[in-house]
Amino acid sequence: MLELWNERLRQEMKACEGELRELRRQQQAPCRDCTHLQENAGLQERLSQLQREAEEARAKLAELDLEVQQKTNRLAEVELRLKDSLAERAEEEERLSRRLRDSQETIASLKSQPQQIKYIIKTVEVESAKAKQALCESQSRNQYLQEQVGMQRQVLKEMEQQLQSSQKTAAQLRAQIMMYEAELERAHGQMLEEMQAMEEEKNRAIEEAFSRAQVEMKAVHENLAGVRTNLLTLQPALRTLTHDYNNLKRQVRDFPLLLQETLRSARAEIGQAIEEVHSTNRELLRKYRRELQLRKKCHNELVRLKGNIRVFGRVRPITKEDGEGPEAANVVTFDADDDAVLHLLHKGKQVSFELDKVFPPQASQEEVFQEVQALVTSCIDGYNVCIFAYGQTGAGKTYTMEGTAANPGINQRALQLLFSEVRGKAADWDYAISVSAAEIYNEALRDLLGKEPQEKLEIKLCPDGSGQLYVPGLTEFRVQSVEDINKVRGDGGWWEEEGGTEGLMNWGGSLVHDPQIRDHF
Ligand code: ADP
Ligand code: MG
Repeated sequence: MLELWNERLRQEMKACEGELRELRRQQQAPCRDCTHLQENAGLQERLSQLQREAEEARAKLAELDLEVQQKTNRLAEVELRLKDSLAERAEEEERLSRRLRDSQETIASLKSQPQQIKYIIKTVEVESAKAKQALCESQSRNQYLQEQVGMQRQVLKEMEQQLQSSQKTAAQLRAQIMMYEAELERAHGQMLEEMQAMEEEKNRAIEEAFSRAQVEMKAVHENLAGVRTNLLTLQPALRTLTHDYNNLKRQVRDFPLLLQETLRSARAEIGQAIEEVHSTNRELLRKYRRELQLRKKCHNELVRLKGNIRVFGRVRPITKEDGEGPEAANVVTFDADDDAVLHLLHKGKQVSFELDKVFPPQASQEEVFQEVQALVTSCIDGYNVCIFAYGQTGAGKTYTMEGTAANPGINQRALQLLFSEVRGKAADWDYAISVSAAEIYNEALRDLLGKEPQEKLEIKLCPDGSGQLYVPGLTEFRVQSVEDINKVRGDGGWWEEEGGTEGLMNWGGSLVHDPQIRDHF
C-alpha cells in the first residue's frame, strides 16, 4: 500500500518536473527583463517548495516503513519465544507425567510383592524345621523387603511431593504464559493501533501534499497561461526592438567611418581656425606695436607739453622744532585762483614766484606723487627721468622724497609703481632693472655703491651717437623688487646730499619682448 502511494507520488513528481522543464523552455531570453520572469521565479520557488514537502513526506513514509518493519520483527521474535516456551512446557509436562507413571508402576509392583511374601510365610509355617529355617530366612527377607517397601513409600511420598510442586510450578508457568500471551496480545493490539494511526497519518499527509500540489499546479497552470498571453503580446514589441537593434547595429558599424570623416573635417576646420587665429594674432601684434609707438609718442608729447623740466614748490607745515615768536612766523601765502603762484613776505614786502605747481602744507604725499607719476611711465617707455628735491636743511626734502614707513614719499611710491607695471607686462615683456648710485660733490664724481667710494669717475658721451651720457666703471646691481633696492641702498643715506639736494636718478634697464623688438631706456 505504502509503496503504491510512493510510486504514485514519484510519478506525479516526475510529471511536475517535466512541466517545469517545459515552462523553463518556453520562458527563454526574449522575456529576460520582463516581470514574468519574476513570476516564473516565484512559481519555481513554490514548486520546489512543494517538491521539498513531498520529499519530506517520502522520508517520513520511509521512516514509518522502517518502524513497521522493526515492530513486525519484534512480534516474530516474541512469537518465536512463546513457541519455545510452550514446547519447553510440553516437554516438562511430558517428563513429569512419565515420572508419575513410573512411580505409580513401582508402587503397584511393591504393593503386589508383600501379598506373595505373606502367602509364602503362611505356607512355610506348616512346613518342617527346615522349613522353619527357610521361614526365618524368609522372615528376615520379609523384614528387608518391608524396609524396602518403607523406603519405597518414603520415595513415593517424596515423589508425590515433587509431583505436587511440579504441578504447582506448571500452574505457575501456565499463569505466566497466559500473562505473557495477554501482554503479547496487548502489544500486538497496540502495535496494530499504532500502525493504523501511522497509516492514517501517512495517508492524510500524502493527501494533504497531493491536494496542495494540485492547487499549486493549478496556480502554476494559470500563471503559465498568463505568461503565454504576455509572451504573445510581447512578440510585436520584441519585433520592434529587433528592428531598432538592427538599425543601431548598422549605425554602430558605420560610426567609425562617420567619426573619421567628422574628425577629418573637424581637423581641417580647426587647422583653418588656428591659421586664422595666427593671422589675426599677427595682425593684432602689428597693430599693437603701432599703437604702442603711438602711445609712447603721445605720452612723450604730453610730458613735453607739460614741460620737460618742471619745478614744483612744496611748503611744509610749521613744526614744533620751528619754535615760537617772530622767527617762526609764516611768511608764505598762496593764490586762491592759481595753484602755480606763491607769495612770500620778505622784509615787509610781498614777492611772488611762479612755478609749475605749488603744494600747500596740507598737500598729502599721495597728491605730490600723482604729479610725477607720469614720469615713471615715461621711464618704462625708455626715457631718462630725473627727479630731485632742492632746499635748505629742514625744508622737508627727505620727507618728500623718502617719507616715513607709514606715509612713504616719491622714491618708494615710484619704485612700487615701476615694479607693479613691470609685473603687469611680464607676460609679454622681459625686463631687466639695475640700480647704480653716484654723487657729484665739489666737481668730483663718486660711486656710492662701489667698493672704493673715494675713487674718482668720469662722465662720458655714449659712443653710439645717441647723445646719452654714461659713467664707465659705475657699479650696477640687478634688482627684482623694491626690497632688493632697499637692501642695496642700506640705510638710504646715499640719497642725501650735503648741499641740500636729493633725488632719484638713473633708472636703467632693458626690456625684451621678442627678438625683433628691443627697446632700451
Ligand atoms: P630736510 O630733509 O630738507 O632737511 P626734513 O625732511 O628732514 O628736511 O624735514 C624737517 C622736519 O619737518 C622733519 O621733522 C619732517 O618730518 C617735517 N616735515 C617736513 N615736511 C613735512 C610735511 N609736508 N608734513 C609734515 N611734516 C613735515
Ligand atoms: Mg634731509
